[in-house]
Amino acid sequence: MKSMKDYEFWFVVGSQFLYGPEVLETVAARAQEMADAFNASGKLPCKVVYKVTVKTPEEATETVKAANFDDKCAGVITWCHTFSPSKMWLNALKLLQKPWCHLATQYNRSIPDKGIDMDFMNLNQAAHGDREHGFIGARLRMTRKVIAGHWQDADVRERLASWMRVAVGVAFSKTLKVMRFGDNMRNVAVTEGDKVGVQEVLGWQVNTWPVGKLAEYIAAVTDAEADALVKEYRRLYTFKTKNIDAVRYQAKEEIAMKRILDEEGCAAYTNTFEDLYGMEQLPGLASQRLMAQGYGYGAEGDWKVSAMTAIVKKMAEGMKGGTAFMEDYTYELAKGKEYSLGAHMLEVCPSIAAAKPAVEVHPLGIGGKADPARLVFEGRAGKAIVISLVDMGGRLRMIVQDIECVKPIYKMPNLPVARVMWRAAPDLKKGVECWITAGGAHHTTLTYDVTAEQMHDFAAIMGIEFVHITKETTVESLERDLFLNDLAWKLRG
Ligand code: MN
Repeated sequence: MKSMKDYEFWFVVGSQFLYGPEVLETVAARAQEMADAFNASGKLPCKVVYKVTVKTPEEATETVKAANFDDKCAGVITWCHTFSPSKMWLNALKLLQKPWCHLATQYNRSIPDKGIDMDFMNLNQAAHGDREHGFIGARLRMTRKVIAGHWQDADVRERLASWMRVAVGVAFSKTLKVMRFGDNMRNVAVTEGDKVGVQEVLGWQVNTWPVGKLAEYIAAVTDAEADALVKEYRRLYTFKTKNIDAVRYQAKEEIAMKRILDEEGCAAYTNTFEDLYGMEQLPGLASQRLMAQGYGYGAEGDWKVSAMTAIVKKMAEGMKGGTAFMEDYTYELAKGKEYSLGAHMLEVCPSIAAAKPAVEVHPLGIGGKADPARLVFEGRAGKAIVISLVDMGGRLRMIVQDIECVKPIYKMPNLPVARVMWRAAPDLKKGVECWITAGGAHHTTLTYDVTAEQMHDFAAIMGIEFVHITKETTVESLERDLFLNDLAWKLRG
């Protein structure tokens, strides 16, 4: 699987022949200098490669064609140092299949008071050139990220870095394979969806493997392999159980699932407590550990949340906040301290733990299997978002809600699972009303690293509906947005 560092972004600069060879040489030299400075800054997650100064339609088209078929290229960044007539770009942009960022910058930060003359004006006219360039993007109704500001500024680089992470998420999504052990939980609607439709739009290949095959893989893991992994668990976690056999079995499940996922090139998987044929325990600790290694996971056959979790983890690669499969469990509704309590029956990713997780073994109550080992911890406090992707029939809707996680206000000593407590925007009751009005699922991807703006950009690139519940949202404004979105998507067909 490719890591963030394996991707690069092509820097393509617009100009024309009008200003003579000296200007073009200066433009090319500056573009190279800017790419080098981006790379030297250490602020961008991937390399920027200066490719070409586009002066003809053929150069634009050849560059776009090459970008489309280069697997390393996760996106194209364009900028017009001088004026660059847009009809020259039209045929090329019609072919573009990679995410596009229009960086509306200029080489100089300030206007040189005494130095400004007509030569300077001919060379430095991004304010002019980027408007022509922007028009063709708008005229073609193309999705592009427009970032404005000086290229040396930290905020511009942060926004560029953030968009690059989205583009890598898009590249990852288009090659993502999801392994399903068992079907969706019987009779559940929101975890279902049109797999062919989703593959068409997001690229995911969602397929099933027999649970019995996984059971064979678990049986094939040796005691020595399991013991070596339990040793690692002892190094990373506090043990609050004497039932080492149960922990060892989870180690075997972790090794077996990782093996089968890697053999099939899958970066995400699902299982269900209703179908654990040949397995002694529902994977708990095992699924938590695989999520911590970057794999997506969805319980009860929820392949959409599994894939989204894998993508968000890829977008957040190298960041420290954490991303987890989550479920809204129960509310605290006492006046003035209204919160959601999020958890799952076992499987919450320890990347969001506030402190060292504890390994515990307890009965599960459902599934009819042996008591599973799991990691128990509290999630950290801080700003985060929850993400849900639902199938509206004919189209996908992504719902993102801003949340503020807090240290859980109760100790809950008899709740034997990882837990997170948060206040959703705009407040618990209105937040719940908005979420339910939009059709958001009980399963979500919770992330402290990836922002709502990034998920908006992801949805825009993929061409899916995006709904953001913020502190400004009211049920009335949301209902109007959903109604207009319905109309827009009917027109799109
Ligand atoms: Mn669930």
